[in-house]
Amino acid sequence: MARLGTADNFLSARGFSAFSFSRISCISRFGNFLNSKPKTKNSKLVSALLDWFAVNARDLPWRRTRDPYAIWVSEIMLQQTQVKTVIPFWNRWLRELPTIEAAAKADSAKLHKLWEGLGYYTRVRNLQKAAQQIVNSSRSRGDEAQINKKSETPHVVSYKFPEKFEEVLALPGIGRYTAGAICSIAFNQPTPILDGNVIRVLTRLFGIAENPKDKTTNAKLWQLAETLVGRAVLCPPRRGEDTAPYHCSHLNQSLMELGALVCTPRNPQCMICPVQKLCMACAENRVEELPNLGKREKATARRFAAFVIERNGKFLVRQRPAGVVNAHLWEFPNIEVTGARLDLPEIFKSEFGGVPEKISPLGTVKHSITRYRITLEAFTASSKRVSPGNGVWKTPAQMQSLAFNAAHKKLASAAAKSILSDR
Ligand code: SF4
Repeated sequence: MARLGTADNFLSARGFSAFSFSRISCISRFGNFLNSKPKTKNSKLVSALLDWFAVNARDLPWRRTRDPYAIWVSEIMLQQTQVKTVIPFWNRWLRELPTIEAAAKADSAKLHKLWEGLGYYTRVRNLQKAAQQIVNSSRSRGDEAQINKKSETPHVVSYKFPEKFEEVLALPGIGRYTAGAICSIAFNQPTPILDGNVIRVLTRLFGIAENPKDKTTNAKLWQLAETLVGRAVLCPPRRGEDTAPYHCSHLNQSLMELGALVCTPRNPQCMICPVQKLCMACAENRVEELPNLGKREKATARRFAAFVIERNGKFLVRQRPAGVVNAHLWEFPNIEVTGARLDLPEIFKSEFGGVPEKISPLGTVKHSITRYRITLEAFTASSKRVSPGNGVWKTPAQMQSLAFNAAHKKLASAAAKSILSDR
């Protein structure tokens, strides 16, 4: 008993029960157990995920680089946006603004135009602020002179993206998830990540029934993510890998990839899942219940009337001010409507000062911004007297170089077509 107790302590310190010890000790009589490392659930998970990712990872453009700037841009674009939507935006961005310095120097109109259609425009403004911060702190440290001295083309300065997690986290628009993603993917550091996909995978794998938004549960999930990426450091190179494999990078990406491709919100494909045997939700038939996200906040419906007003081949458009939703983007004049009745001539008069000669329906665009479900009813209108207020007259060609939000971009296309069909 004493000997068993000693061995039991030895094994329990490594996460094994007396039961597993007695079972393994039988095996050890036949195999050389003491010379082989027993595998815990976490190390099995990490191994299985790395093997699966090596074969199944999608070939995404930002996965062909380790440039932290390019990875950072992809991570910011991917917030709230699907991979297939992001690909052309990312390619265009990297073509137009290939360096941190280019992003720092770009004018606001260009930045917004490059982001046009991705939504959540605060992201792009923060991205530029962060790029400017990197350039400025590089300059104040004198890095520029150093880089210039060494560079074969002295006027080309490549500013260095910070590598320390705390420094990355301190940049505008970068939270714990994004800092962890950049540090792990670009620099292979064991920094955890926790986004919607990873939350879904972890709550199912570990059978976590509590709401992931609860503080304690959230902390537990971060801890699990940290343990797994920490395990990846210990993983020996897989077959065909070099001696310094990017395991932290691959492990974090494998969790996101599994959530995107296999462990999906609806109809997860447990039958082909590489970690099915280790999955608690699957074993207990609780997959559909997890993650427990609680009740969804109900979306609020809002209704707007927009006027597409043409004069001599030009349309009246205006730029949204700073500090509001969709700040700096362009739009057709519009007004929020409350109540069921839509008195268009009255609205027109109060907005533009003149009496409309003709108002005709152009179309309805439905879209969502944050928790608002928006219905935008658009009308073409004509009047001899229109006071443009803070608007300006632009031709369809000029409008093409302005950044509109998705709904108003549709109106801009419809407006341009209406002019062509009138000719
Ligand atoms: S077995 Fe099913 S629920 Fe579990 S991780 Fe895999 S896909 Fe998700």
